[in-house]
Amino acid sequence: MKMMIYVSAAVHDPVIARVILDTDIEINVDRANIDATSGEIVLEVPADSCARVATAFERHGASVSILEHPIIRDDDECVHCGACINVCPVQVFSFNDDWIIAIDESKCIQCGTCVTACPHAALMVMSE
Ligand code: SF4
Ligand code: SF4
Repeated sequence: MKMMIYVSAAVHDPVIARVILDTDIEINVDRANIDATSGEIVLEVPADSCARVATAFERHGASVSILEHPIIRDDDECVHCGACINVCPVQVFSFNDDWIIAIDESKCIQCGTCVTACPHAALMVMSE
């Protein structure tokens, strides 16, 4: 399960390391944008451990969103042009046998690249 963690400048702890030590759960960092003022981190966490991991991050001052559907397509707008296939860094999109775009949303790291690349504004990233 994908999870988005938001940290502010007020959080000085190495939160990911502390959560791993607290929970003894393996956490994979898919993407991290961190600067001097804030941080946004996408994690892959075992589905049955999400609640424990979320609680541990919140205890350390971070905010958490579970990414149930990280990428959403508007089926009325999509024209199956395939432009999203090449720009996605983690191969979320593919053509099926009927040349219809298939989506494996479990891979999405919410980089947002496909949202700006789609010529029909058919894609959105969702925070919950
Ligand atoms: S780029 Fe947009 S319109 Fe083209 S296949 Fe992807 S979602 Fe559909
Ligand atoms: S936001 Fe779009 S381009 Fe980025 S990982 Fe998700 S599906 Fe791929």
